[in-house]
Amino acid sequence: MSIAAEKYKSGEVLPIMEHFYTIQGEGNFAGHPAYFIRLAGCDVGCVWCDVKESWDAEAHPDLSVSDLITQIKKTPAKIVVVTGGEPAIYQLQFLTDSIHQAGLKTHIETSGAYSLTGSWDWVCLSPKKFKPTRLSVYKKAHELKVVIYNKHDFLWAEKHLELVAKNCMLYLQPEWGRKDKIMPGIVDYVKNNPKWLISVQTHKYLNIP
Ligand code: SF4
Repeated sequence: MSIAAEKYKSGEVLPIMEHFYTIQGEGNFAGHPAYFIRLAGCDVGCVWCDVKESWDAEAHPDLSVSDLITQIKKTPAKIVVVTGGEPAIYQLQFLTDSIHQAGLKTHIETSGAYSLTGSWDWVCLSPKKFKPTRLSVYKKAHELKVVIYNKHDFLWAEKHLELVAKNCMLYLQPEWGRKDKIMPGIVDYVKNNPKWLISVQTHKYLNIP
């Protein structure tokens, strides 16, 4: 059951917290320039969420997808990353079709709490403890990125691993506020379990959006 309002049903208009051209800071595409669309609205409720201002969709303006595409096409972006909030609460087929028609790649960052709509070239699944991940989203994930908050999260990460495709990229990423405390443990874990890679939020070190 989606929390998205009726007015977003066609996906031609969406609540947008922000959109900007920057560098993807984390995960498999870290270092790649990308246009980010941050959709507003999330009911997952992560205690350590660093974009809590995204949770209330009504606090942000609606924007038409055609206006968004016009803005994106003013940049040399080749990749559009759709993030949130939890973007999958919305019907995203119209958005991904429009991005593809503009000749760009579609990437999404999702907790997996909702079934995915849209046609995605890259799905980054970052499961959260606060709302279960749908089985269908595990199957679509190209990248599994587990945020590590404490040492118990390594076992939690392994449980997700059993559900993704064999060729899914696997990342452990320290929760930003705990990175100094938890990073030594992540380094040891990845050295002992080399199927995992480390992801760090380079955009925060670089102080870019
Ligand atoms: Fe925040 Fe993302 Fe968790 Fe939603 S899913 S509460 S936006 S970290």
